[in-house]
Amino acid sequence: MNFEIGKVYKGFKLLEEKEVKEANSTSRLFSHEKTGARLIYLSNEDNNKVFTIGFRTPPEDSTGVPHIIEHSVLSGSKKYRTKEPFMDLIKGSLQTFLNAMTYPDKTVYPVASRNDKDFKNLMDVYLDAVFNPRIYEMEEIFMQEGWHYEIMDKDDPIKYKGVVYNEMRGAYSSPESLLSERISQSLFPDTMYRFSSGGDPYVIPELTHENFLKFHSKFYHPSNSYIYLYGDGDVLEDLNYIDREYLNEFDKRDIDTEIHLQSPVINETIEYYPISQDESDEDKDYISLNFVLGQATDKKDNLMIDLLNDVLINSPAGPVKKALIDAGIGEDI
Ligand SMILES: [Zn+2]
Repeated sequence: MNFEIGKVYKGFKLLEEKEVKEANSTSRLFSHEKTGARLIYLSNEDNNKVFTIGFRTPPEDSTGVPHIIEHSVLSGSKKYRTKEPFMDLIKGSLQTFLNAMTYPDKTVYPVASRNDKDFKNLMDVYLDAVFNPRIYEMEEIFMQEGWHYEIMDKDDPIKYKGVVYNEMRGAYSSPESLLSERISQSLFPDTMYRFSSGGDPYVIPELTHENFLKFHSKFYHPSNSYIYLYGDGDVLEDLNYIDREYLNEFDKRDIDTEIHLQSPVINETIEYYPISQDESDEDKDYISLNFVLGQATDKKDNLMIDLLNDVLINSPAGPVKKALIDAGIGEDI
């Protein structure tokens, strides 16, 4: 079927159409008329279909609210009321990929399957999870996935518990992950990149149930969503279903997710990480030298940075790597 730029298909206006040779695909960019949701569809012969919905989720603190929401929306929704639809999915599905990821500034829910019925089912589970989660009626989801107090015996000390809380305690005891977090904090001290989207275990317990729900209702809205489809699916059928079952119930809203550019800074910081009591602190130091280069949205800059990284450091003959090893400074680069 031929599509026409500017025409509305099942509630979506076609903004752009082009051939993407590298992916053997026809790419069509749509905007949902009623909500402003953006949808890109890569049509091709591949039966390994992909669906992703993502939201811009810039954190305003280090309570890990984007990460806790990611876990929580997958803990039951209007149509899928089991405790862990996500786990049930992995068991019974023919999926070739299924995950959810919280980035410093966005949260995405990708899924792929070669089986048509399975694919449609997975897409429905994800859409229902992000738009109709049970977090509003079940406060215990927040406590279970975020944080809560736990005491087993009246004489025991009260402890913090929670899926994300525990996960981040693990992450924060790994020097590499702590280091990468501190790097972005020191490079972008005036932007939201100074916060931990995953959650700083010392700050997670500051998150209230109210702010948790507020974050979901602000950012998990079609106007702030990006939908991606790939494969040999029927474009009109998929558009129709997404509009009719989900997007149609919302109205367009202005959601400010702008991230301002950081003006250059020079920073030198020393941070500490925990080791166990019987460990020696010898040879446990890490050093990192960092630069901000170009912008993440510049494709050419990004490619160049990757290339430079490989040529200078990642390759065994990389001159920077070689010089550092020859100087005998560290055990590993
Ligand atoms: Zn997690």
